[in-house]
Order: sequence, then structure tokens, then C-alpha cells
Amino acid sequence: EITVKELQEWLADFATEVKAKKDYLSELDTPIGDGDHGNNMARGMEAYEESLAKQKPTTISDTFKILAMALISKVGGASGPLYGSAFMNITKATKDITVITHQAELGSLLETGLKGIQQRGKAEAGDKTMVDVWFPVVTALKEESLTSEKIEAAKESTKNLVAKKGRASYLGERAVGHIDPGAASSALLFTTLLKFC
Ligand code: ADP
Ligand code: MG
Ligand code: MG
Repeated sequence: EITVKELQEWLADFATEVKAKKDYLSELDTPIGDGDHGNNMARGMEAYEESLAKQKPTTISDTFKILAMALISKVGGASGPLYGSAFMNITKATKDITVITHQAELGSLLETGLKGIQQRGKAEAGDKTMVDVWFPVVTALKEESLTSEKIEAAKESTKNLVAKKGRASYLGERAVGHIDPGAASSALLFTTLLKFC
């Protein structure tokens, strides 16, 4: 059961993980991007924490809104507006929700987030982006069968793909052999979620 309390615990855990793995995420972004993904995400999650402490939201929707705004305004990379549009869609979808009871319900909410990422970034599954983690996670949640193994497998699946979107797409075949950094940060997001669902 996820109420505003568990949601804020989840996002606190995610912020902690992003900050702890900041260098790892930026290292993933070095061979196939510009080496800033960990720094971008850490800056965004620090902005979320500051805004949360200041605004003290009391609903699920308002909490997602603070997260979306922090990521959109403070992450200077492609990932900010992409994650931001995901969480903005989820803000809208949770307007009247005080508790998320089932994995399937969470799956439907995250699916609106995935649609936001795809509307903004135009990536499909298999394009070597964060979509390659969001898509199977949404599917598994809707079947009430999300596990850490599935999340890890989704992240690893980006390794052997050629990128069709984002900076890595400029590299063609040379991107093969490298995990997508946005897929790795999304894996952190959903791994920290497991404890609550
Ligand atoms: P930037 O590439 O601007 O430096 P980041 O390094 O923070 O931004 O984020 C890069 C990540 O953003 C990629 O690893 C990928 O997962 C994701 N990404 C980039 N473009 C797209 C897109 N069009 N659709 C979905 N995800 C994307
Ligand atoms: Mg980058
Ligand atoms: Mg950048």
C-alpha cells in the first residue's frame, strides 16, 4: 500500500541511491554521451529534496508535482524534461488518489508516465533509452510480477542495442557494449520502489 508517506520514503531512497551512484551514472554516460548523467540526476534530486522540505506537500499528486518541477527546472540535460514529463503526467493521474493499493494500479499510473516520456522524446522500446526500463517495468507491474531480476535484465538489455535517440545515437554501432545511463537511473528508481509494492 502506497500513501503519501510511502511515496516520499520511496523518493527519498531514490535520491539517496542517485547521489551514492552519481559517479557510476556519469561514467556510463562517458563513452556514449557527455558524462554528466549522474551529476544531472543528483542535482535534480537535491532540488527535489529542498523543494519538498520547503513546501511540505501532503498529497501523492503534490509530491509528484514537486519532483517533476525540480527535474524539469534543475536538470540541464535531456533526462530532466523526460523524467519531468513522466512525473507531470503522473501528477495529473493521481489528482484524486490518496492510496495506491495494487501493483496493477501503480502500473497504470507509471504507464501514463511512460507515455509522457514517449510523447516528448519519441523513443520506442529497443532504442536504447530509459524507455527500455520503463516499458517492461510497467508491463510487469500490470501483471503484479515486478522483481529486481526483471529490472536488472531490462537495464542490461540496453547494452547490446544501437541507440536511436539521444546523444548515443550519434555513435551508431560504437554504442554497442555500453549500458544506457538513463536506463540505469530508471533501474534505481524502480529497484527502490520494490520495497513498497
Ligand atoms: P544529456 O544527454 O542531455 O546529457 P543526460 O545525460 O542527463 O542528458 O541523459 C541521457 C539519457 O536520457 C540517456 O541515457 C537516455 O536514457 C535518455 N534519453 C535521451 N534522449 C531520449 C529520448 N528521446 N527518449 C527517451 N530517453 C532519452
Ligand atoms: Mg549526458
Ligand atoms: Mg548533458
